[in-house]
Order: sequence, then structure tokens, then C-alpha cells
Amino acid sequence: MTSNISFLSYVMKQFDEAAQTIGLSQDLCDVLKKPERSIIVSLPCRMDNGELKVFTGYRVQHNSARGPYKGGIRYHPDVTLEEVTALAMLMTWKCAVVDIPFGGAKGGVKCDPKNMSQAELERLTRKYTMAIANVIGPYLDIPAPDVYTDAQTMAWIMDTYSKIKNEPAPAVVTGKPITLGGSEGRNEATGMGVAILTREVSKYLGKPLKGARVVVQGFGNVGYISAKLLQEMGCRIIAVSDSKGGICSNEQLDVEKVLNHKKMTGSVINYEKAKNITNEELLELECDFLIPAAIENVITSKNADRIKASAVIEAANGPTTPEADRILFEKGILIVPDILASAGGVTVSYFEWVQNLTRTKWSIEEVRANLERKMVKAFDEVMKFAKEYKTNTRLTAMVVAVKRVAEAVKSLGSWP
Ligand code: GLU
Repeated sequence: MTSNISFLSYVMKQFDEAAQTIGLSQDLCDVLKKPERSIIVSLPCRMDNGELKVFTGYRVQHNSARGPYKGGIRYHPDVTLEEVTALAMLMTWKCAVVDIPFGGAKGGVKCDPKNMSQAELERLTRKYTMAIANVIGPYLDIPAPDVYTDAQTMAWIMDTYSKIKNEPAPAVVTGKPITLGGSEGRNEATGMGVAILTREVSKYLGKPLKGARVVVQGFGNVGYISAKLLQEMGCRIIAVSDSKGGICSNEQLDVEKVLNHKKMTGSVINYEKAKNITNEELLELECDFLIPAAIENVITSKNADRIKASAVIEAANGPTTPEADRILFEKGILIVPDILASAGGVTVSYFEWVQNLTRTKWSIEEVRANLERKMVKAFDEVMKFAKEYKTNTRLTAMVVAVKRVAEAVKSLGSWP
């Protein structure tokens, strides 16, 4: 969430490259480069101490040619319109690459959720929902959790929206608590998608998954679940980190014990039987699979040369800059790009939405089997293209996605 202007320009650059590769017409480029709607809302909110604070919220709806807008809402002190715009655009490509019938959107509120009480967060969430109620909806734009928002946040949004519309509207958000129509498996879906694709990468590279050394940057929901599932699959998790720093072990870390340590102390650092390292050092460790699962712009031209992983599986949105991309490609490091690697979450969001609209409930086995099928199919499609055209995997994934969206935009035509 640093240098957001350049993050947006990186996302634009990725699009430009894909557009150029498929010879997209200037008209279509112009349409796809702009969000269809961006709103900025002012959110006066009473704090627990009686003080009134005015927060700023955003919802950017990038494209709806393939279906209703879809994408998370993040709460973070560094949220800006530029960042939300870039993330909304990435959501359009993410939904297209796994071929689910959604467009892309993103929302954000500039706030510091770590220093807010539950009551303050609830009031802020309800204010934000009131402010965007007219531009979201089960068939219009369906928010979901993102950085520092969760199932509880979604429950407040659903409740506020339902009260405004005077009817229960569970399908207005995904990532809800199970009791309110949330799907089995949604909470762990992004991490599960990452684990599935790491397993596919190991097959693709002909490297055994058992004993493979895995480094995970970020130990939030996605990082933790990815690490936990990969450990269950036989990988050795040799290092993990959070915003305060990282830890590494020559043997392997017990992911569950590290989580307990984090719960007790507030961070993974100072975990017994492991060495404290910085986030920068962690990224440069020798390993088989590096999983950035935190924030954007962490693998840059400054450190890409020192990355020693065989593959990078991008669980976060936008962790690698374009210069770093080129360096990793030249070094022969395989990248599973963010729009593909992190698509497990939105894929199970789609399953949740379908369950809400059809008034059905899928078992965890059904959710997992369908997620597995979607992720593996998308991975195979991207790898087949990448091999055939000898292009890097990010460009290939973008090409697959942009082609699908461009075809939809073209078929819709222009009205009025
Ligand atoms: N925030 C998640 C993402 O960036 C999930 C979005 C969703 O489920 O709509 O992919």
C-alpha cells in the first residue's frame, strides 16, 4: 500500500502489454483502461470518546461486461483512490481468468482498524454501506472481505443494506458468517487456491511437493491458511512473517504453534526455535516456493535479483513490480501471477452467491471439488499458452483475461 500511483501505473502497464500482444483496438483499450464508475464518500463517524471523525471511503467499479461488479473492501490507513482503482481493475482480470461471471470492483476506507474498537468499526461500516447502498446490490455489485475486513464486516454490510432495501438481501455480499448464508470453505478459499496451485506448480516443475521448502510473507488469513495447507501436503514451511518482521528455521516451523504465538504476542517474531529476520531477508531466502501473501510492491527491481525461489506464487494482489517481473522471468523463476494465484477467494465467493440466489447449501466437499476444478483448469490454460508462446505467465494470464473481457465488451456494443 505504498507508492500507490505507481501501483496503478504498473497495473496499467500490465494491461497495455496484454492489449498490445492481442492487438486490441484503440477503442477497446480506451474503454477498458477507465473504471465505469468511481465514488468517493465522506463518512462522519462518532468515536467511542465522543469525538467526531470524518473518514473517506471509495468504491471503484471497473467493468461489468461479464457480470455484476465483484471485489473486496479494505480498511487501511494507506487506502487511496489510485490504489482502489488499480485493485478494481485487477478484480476484472481475476474473475475473467478463472472464468466466473463477474466484473471487477474494489472498495476501501482510509482508517486504522487496528486502533479502532468493534463498536467504532461497526458504526463506520454501517455509514459506509449507507453511502454506497445505491451502487451495490445482489445483481449490481457484490462486495467481500479484503485487507482488515472479515465475515463480521460483511454481516454489518448485509444487515444495513437489507434494512435500507426493506428486504433480506444475503446475496449483496459474500464472505458472510455461515449462519447468515456464508459458504462453507469461503474463509479459507484464497489460501486453499494458493495451496492447490503450489501443488500444480510442483507437478509442472517436476519437483516433489513433499519436503519442498516454502517461505510465506504475511501471516494473515491468506498467508496462514496457505502455510497450514501446504504443511499438511508435506511441504516444509521454513519462514513466515508479518508486518513486524519474520522468523526462519533450518528445519521447519509448526504453523499452528506459530499462530498461537502470534495470537499471544501480537506477532510471529521472537518465536522460540526460530531466528528473527526482516521481511527483506525473508524474501531472499533460498527456497522452492515463495508466497508473498501481504501487500503490493514487495518484489521490486531492488531485490528481484536476489530472489532464490524456484517459483513465486502471488497470494497478494500486486506484490511484484514490472521490472522485477522481467528479472524473475530472465532468471527462470516461474511466477503464478496474482490474478490467478489469489483467485480462490473470489471463486468461492461466486459459489456463495450462487447458493444464496438458488437458496441452496453446498457441502464443504462440493465447494472444495468445484474450487479445485476451477483453479486447475485456469492454471492449465495459462501454462499451455505460456509454453506455446514462450511468454511470461503474468502476460499470459492477462492475455487470457483481457481477451475474455474485451470479447464481452465488444459483443455488448455501445448503448445509448
Ligand atoms: N478480496 C478478495 C480478492 O481480492 C476477494 C474478493 C471477492 O471475493 O469478491 O480477491
